[in-house]
Amino acid sequence: MSHAVDLATLARDAVPAATLERIRAARRVLAVGHENPDADTIGASMGLAIIVEQLGGRASVVFSDPVPPLYEFLPGIDRVRTDPPADEPFDLLVLSDCATPDRVGGVAQRHPVPFADLPRVIVDHHVSNGGQVAADWIDPSAAATCEMVALLAVRLGIPLDAADGALATVLMAGIVMDTATFAHPNATPRTLAVSAALVDAGAPLSDISRRLYRTKPDAQLRLFGRVLDRIHTAAEGRVLWSTLLQADFDATGALPAHSEGIIDLLAQSESAEVSMLLKEQDEATTRLSVRTKPGGVDATVLTGEFGGGGHARAAGATIDAPLDAAIGMAAAVAERLAAKVQRQHSPVAGQ
Ligand code: 5GP
Ligand code: MN
Repeated sequence: MSHAVDLATLARDAVPAATLERIRAARRVLAVGHENPDADTIGASMGLAIIVEQLGGRASVVFSDPVPPLYEFLPGIDRVRTDPPADEPFDLLVLSDCATPDRVGGVAQRHPVPFADLPRVIVDHHVSNGGQVAADWIDPSAAATCEMVALLAVRLGIPLDAADGALATVLMAGIVMDTATFAHPNATPRTLAVSAALVDAGAPLSDISRRLYRTKPDAQLRLFGRVLDRIHTAAEGRVLWSTLLQADFDATGALPAHSEGIIDLLAQSESAEVSMLLKEQDEATTRLSVRTKPGGVDATVLTGEFGGGGHARAAGATIDAPLDAAIGMAAAVAERLAAKVQRQHSPVAGQ
């Protein structure tokens, strides 16, 4: 492998010694990501497992919910489980892309052992993280948790083309997902340097981007159509929202995972400071997804009102209210926050 990009200095500066030592010393790792897994938590957890295996240890990869079909192209995805193997004597729990341990979801309640007992490391890039312990590594400047795991691999001397190229591919997928292929402002020079090294190690960047962002089943396109047709706006278009109903799935045959990406279409509104998608979960609960313009509303302030979190430009929450009530609650907070945004220029130019 050629070394067009040398990440050694970036990796030395980034990875805390305590995290490094915990992972280097681990022999049997339980690598867990957040519920409703996306490419970043999947890539980071699978990447960590490959790293541990390259160091001579063993690893299991677990998410509370099944992996959506969108990610089935990832090499090694067959190893992912919704429950840890019963008889494995794990010595370390690694949570990736989880702002708090409860983001893991139901699997932690289903298996109090090992979840409650194991020494733990969090590797994550969310700002709204709280309650860190010593070996946790939280870096909000990272565009993706996969960017951090790539630096960890380099720091541990593991070649990025390890596992027949699977390491580079799964980590590239997480970065492509969380940056929308380098389109979001979270993509930094370090993100690009890490990505260049992953491509150098064989990651099929263009193919990954096409699969994650530009390939959809027809049922999903029809689902998008129904949501786009129901857009509402308030405050002269500075707040925009739409809804995703259970009936939309029945009408189109789309799967719940197909709602991925709708919010990013709503966020293309020229006028909206705040774009929101409210998903009908059941009679008493609504999922909220939020996107905001650069330099404008902090999305975590909005979702924080409902006990959620995320990033300044992209955040989410679960609202304990039926859809119609949740719309009113979210729109009221969004309008209050959007009213405080002062812009010299149009939102698009006003970075
Ligand atoms: P999405 O709208 O794509 O579901 O989520 C956007 C971002 O907000 C993600 O990066 C995710 O980490 C975060 N997020 C989504 N839902 C929640 C939630 O219920 N709680 C917290 N803490 N973060 C969330
Ligand atoms: Mn992430």
